[in-house]
Amino acid sequence: MPGYSRPCRYCDQLVPPDAEACPACGKVNPIYGPSCPICRTHLETGWKKCPSCGLPLEATCPKCGKLTFLGDYCTQC
Ligand SMILES: [Zn+2]
Ligand SMILES: [Zn+2]
Ligand SMILES: [Zn+2]
Repeated sequence: MPGYSRPCRYCDQLVPPDAEACPACGKVNPIYGPSCPICRTHLETGWKKCPSCGLPLEATCPKCGKLTFLGDYCTQC
């Protein structure tokens, strides 16, 4: 079933609804944002724990060493 394209969260280009990466900027989860790696619950940036399974959502970035949200990309660098 074809769906409607939605704007990418990162670059605002339209992305097919089932795309796993934005064709314009290449970032993953372009529409729905990060999800929990354990239970796949949708997560919002800034949350400290997964509301479903309790997984801590703060991680140290391997590039800049700062504490960041456990999402697809570091929020600091
Ligand atoms: Zn994009
Ligand atoms: Zn979870
Ligand atoms: Zn970083």
